Amino acid sequence: MSAYRLPGWGHPVELVELPVPVPRGTEVLVEVQAVGLCHSDLFVMSVEEGVLPYDLPLTLGHEVAGRVVAVGELADSSLVGSDGVVHGVWSCGECHNCQRGQDNHCVALDGRVGCGLGRDGGLADYVVLPHGRHFVTATSVPPTALAPLADAGLTAYHAIRLHADALAGDCAALVIGVGGLGHLAVQILRATTSARVVAVDPRPEACALAERLGAHHTAMSVDDGLARLTASTGLTGIDVVLDFVGSDDTLRLGASALTPGGRLVVVGGARGSITVGKGLDLPLGWQVSAPFWGPRSDLVAVVELAEKGLLDPVVEVVPYADVPAAYARLHDGGVTGRIVVVP
Ligand code: NAD
Ligand code: ZN
Repeated sequence: MSAYRLPGWGHPVELVELPVPVPRGTEVLVEVQAVGLCHSDLFVMSVEEGVLPYDLPLTLGHEVAGRVVAVGELADSSLVGSDGVVHGVWSCGECHNCQRGQDNHCVALDGRVGCGLGRDGGLADYVVLPHGRHFVTATSVPPTALAPLADAGLTAYHAIRLHADALAGDCAALVIGVGGLGHLAVQILRATTSARVVAVDPRPEACALAERLGAHHTAMSVDDGLARLTASTGLTGIDVVLDFVGSDDTLRLGASALTPGGRLVVVGGARGSITVGKGLDLPLGWQVSAPFWGPRSDLVAVVELAEKGLLDPVVEVVPYADVPAAYARLHDGGVTGRIVVVP
């Protein structure tokens, strides 16, 4: 089979031929139908040796839709033939976090999270999952729309669900960065909360996308977005800021936009930082959090939203041969929605 692998730290991905894996024990073999390309892949490809505890070479691809085609002798054979999406956090299923449904915080992961992020992923013809529970079946959503739900949809949904209490009633949410994750966050906010949605992105095409997906206000800067919210609703601050960039600038601007009791939710990995403490001239009772991906139960909920037609990823489908060029465009900010690769 073909696979795009990271051969060494700081190297571009290369296309290689590998044997089709044979699932053993509890493992499940998925034939890949579509894979989303995430900004996090760019991070993995860019870091020097020693930053991530992964063994290389590593097959990338953590947003995977496909069909179960074979299982090991200890796996649930009724899965064979099922279509669905891979839950990429390959948790142990046994630790206290897994037992209480917070499998995205599994204590056994030691930095090697799972699919394409520490373990061989789905930017290949086939991917092996350690267990059938890492597969979520879906019936009516096509693979190219299903793949981005695995991370872009799940991460956005999880970040929003964690703050559902602050997104009830007359309130406002700010989405910073309307890319792969952000464009789904706009839809999830509209589908699951009563918040006025403000979306900010310096790219006009990203603002246009947010508007088309239901954002009430769009702007190319946080200040302008907040001014538009205030002018039309009288609300003077934001209850939940979802920062899908995470730079020094966006964290500072996001925190300064909060209303009392507001939440700054850091999702983006641009490695910015912000000082946390009392007496910082921030609104009373502010909170900051840095959610990570999401538990399996949230992926099930995301798939349900898509099956009901309430969540519909905007995708640009590219052929397998175009992966290097597609990553280059993602790096340069030239993508609307999500790029999805079809093997
Ligand atoms: P993307 O490249 O598709 O989208 C990023 C968007 O941010 C683009 O539209 C870009 O124009 C916009 N942007 C850039 N600078 C901006 C600024 N200063 N203000 C407002 N918008 C700005 O990326 P993506 O795949 O959606 O990923 C977003 C981030 O989330 C990445 O950093 C990624 O690594 C991270 N991520 C985190 C998790 C997690 O679990 N916490 C999971 C997946 C991805
Ligand atoms: Zn665990």
